[in-house]
Amino acid sequence: MRKILVTGGAGFLGSHLCERLVAQGHDVLCVDNYFTGSKANIEHLLGLPHFEVMRHDVTFPLYVEVDQIYNLACPASPVHYQHDPVQTTKVNVHGAINMLGLAKRLRARILQASTSEVYGDPEVHPQTEDYWGKVNPIGIRSCYDEGKRCAETLFFDYWRQHRLEIKVMRIFNTYGPRMHPNDGRVVSNFIVQALKGEPITIYGDGTQTRSFCYVDDLVDGMMRLMDSPAAFTGPVNVGNPQETTMLELADTICRLTGSASAIEFRPLPQDDPKQRRPDIGLAERALGWAPRTALEDGLKETIAYFRKIVD
Ligand code: NAD
Ligand code: UDP
Ligand code: UDP
Repeated sequence: MRKILVTGGAGFLGSHLCERLVAQGHDVLCVDNYFTGSKANIEHLLGLPHFEVMRHDVTFPLYVEVDQIYNLACPASPVHYQHDPVQTTKVNVHGAINMLGLAKRLRARILQASTSEVYGDPEVHPQTEDYWGKVNPIGIRSCYDEGKRCAETLFFDYWRQHRLEIKVMRIFNTYGPRMHPNDGRVVSNFIVQALKGEPITIYGDGTQTRSFCYVDDLVDGMMRLMDSPAAFTGPVNVGNPQETTMLELADTICRLTGSASAIEFRPLPQDDPKQRRPDIGLAERALGWAPRTALEDGLKETIAYFRKIVD
């Protein structure tokens, strides 16, 4: 049994991670400022003897005693991270410095929830970890993309300079129960629109692609990475290589919900990547990990969740 800190633990991914760690018998400390997360996500864990919550903003120093740190604190959807872009950069950079400083004092192993956005609008397809990316440094997505890139830099400098045990995980689009219904991400938008019989909003012509990973698979990959041999730092892609266009996704969601929603085309946001698919060869070799949930199966679980919370 370990003492494990999860920052951003009341968010979508964080709450699933906390649940799995508690189930394994670990002592979990969830730190969150509830910017995009909610107490409802962790309600079922409150009161358990091995689960503790602390309201705290990671841009400020944190003094606690733990053995491992999962650093997930950061708004993840474009709507949320663009709401206060300066704060987004601060969470990524100051937050990383504080959590790395904490890990250094404790000699604790630390995992960073990085992102496929470090590849920007990629010229290499599918994306392998050795691709350096094509990122606009001054656009509306930059606070997130460059913030996450700088966090990766900090992780590798603490590793080189202070010999910290680091793990850097590049997460590709992930979906599942407890996604925020209003966070503007495509899976939650389409499901909510389909359930309400509202038009499905496709940005651009809908031929852009993404690869969607079900949350249980993602959390499994994250825990395998944390427990991998010390010499393995990553960065490692974790995601589902099954690639789909937004038009196909809209069709599938309409079919699975039995919705008759019309399709409505809207302008494509600035810097919206045209295609994205992870090369997961490294995760397969180093972690023995591959996603197991087919898109339709994961969507069915997610739709069932949204049916309960959408009126
Ligand atoms: P989320 O918005 O649901 O969760 C983020 C959590 O961080 C929230 O609970 C939020 O309140 C908390 N938070 C934000 N700022 C904070 C601060 N200053 N101090 C403390 N807590 C703070 O998003 P998510 O989808 O669960 O993403 C979790 C992590 O995974 C993020 O770092 C995100 O960048 C990364 N990621 C997610 C995806 C995805 O598809 N979901 C893809 C790539 C990377
Ligand atoms: N820090 C923290 N908790 C700790 C230790 C450090 O939050 O237990 C923060 C503190 O704000 C510090 C930052 O982490 O400024 C970086 O720590 P480090 O030791 O790398 O550098 P310092 O700034 O102390 O020289
Ligand atoms: N998108 C869309 N309709 C929506 C929301 C998003 O067509 O209602 C598109 C968006 O332009 C992007 C893709 O879906 O091309 C994925 O968007 P999301 O914000 O979920 O993730 P990201 O762009 O960060 O991968």
